[in-house]
Amino acid sequence: MITAYIKPTNFCNVGCSHCYLPEFVRANRTMMSMETFRKVSDRIKNYADQYGEGEVHVLWHGGEPLLVPMEWYDHANKVLQETGITGSQSMQTSLVPYRSEYASFIKEKMGGRLGVSYDFSSRKLNGSSEAYTDMFMSKVDMARADGLVLGVTMTVTKNELGRASEIIDWYLVHGFSTIKIERYTQHGMVYQDWVTNMEHSMFMVDLIENILALHEKNIYFSEGVTLSAIRGVMQGISGDRWGTSCVTDFLVFEPDGETSNCTDRTGKEASFGSVYQPLKMMMENETRSKIVSSHMSGENIKDHCFSCEYLSWCKSGCPLQVNEVPSERTDCSGHKYFLDHIKKILGSERRDVLLSYAKKAGISECL
Ligand code: SF4
Ligand code: SF4
Repeated sequence: MITAYIKPTNFCNVGCSHCYLPEFVRANRTMMSMETFRKVSDRIKNYADQYGEGEVHVLWHGGEPLLVPMEWYDHANKVLQETGITGSQSMQTSLVPYRSEYASFIKEKMGGRLGVSYDFSSRKLNGSSEAYTDMFMSKVDMARADGLVLGVTMTVTKNELGRASEIIDWYLVHGFSTIKIERYTQHGMVYQDWVTNMEHSMFMVDLIENILALHEKNIYFSEGVTLSAIRGVMQGISGDRWGTSCVTDFLVFEPDGETSNCTDRTGKEASFGSVYQPLKMMMENETRSKIVSSHMSGENIKDHCFSCEYLSWCKSGCPLQVNEVPSERTDCSGHKYFLDHIKKILGSERRDVLLSYAKKAGISECL
């Protein structure tokens, strides 16, 4: 399925230290015009038709998508309908600008589920993480009172390393039993709190160990990437960052109608051209052609991958991550250290605990 990341604005009023957008981009208050949105809608339809895809997933992204008035989404949905785009919708938001007037739209178009981003150290209000958390939780309470279900995405920075147990406790205490860990991508920018592949893998090992310890005590907590890893190691099925087809399946639309295929490339690489240009120009765009041919030719698959048992479904993971040789200190872009840990658990007396966790999280059909 084609996933269309639509960014009605790049403006954001939070200012996270790990944001993938350069500051000058997220300070730009430009909102996508309806004229541009019509072009975006046409582009999605034509692209999906070209790839023989019937349904499209529209992901409202940003910047902060809730800084855009509700009327904009009403209008945009009419345009999607007129264009003949069918499928599903979701939104990824900080929740900070949430107001109850969005609730019926989220219920009608997204089944009442809203993706929210929350991180422990990199979001601050007046320089304080605690103040940010208080404000975030007041919005969580408001959204829950409106009948919405919130799914959290969290980016791991250096400040979260070794804290999986404390982090899970915080989420459980605040009513979140399912989260998703994002890989902190350092693409075209330098971040002080960025984590290496190995550090990220070690966090994931810490996380799965703590999840299983809770599971043994009948306390349910799940995380999406751990489940994708279990599915991959057991069944050889690609998912999440492993075996990604983002290069051709994702379309990203900037507020001014510029296009690309990955939000992490925004402001750092030339775009694939504008929606005001013909589809053919986007398909033949030099930046796009380089990215697609590099991915198709397996440029990020390195020598160490050819002897790796996970290659058929990992395919070297995210193409933006450096694919280092797995060793005691370094890890590859597929986080082999973490995958090997999953495999080790499957070969140990804790296999049943791992399978029970996966089953409870709803992936029993794969086990
Ligand atoms: S070595 Fe790493 S990146 Fe390469 S296939 Fe194996 S897990 Fe994936
Ligand atoms: S290139 Fe990497 S970060 Fe970008 S969409 Fe693909 S998997 Fe995600």
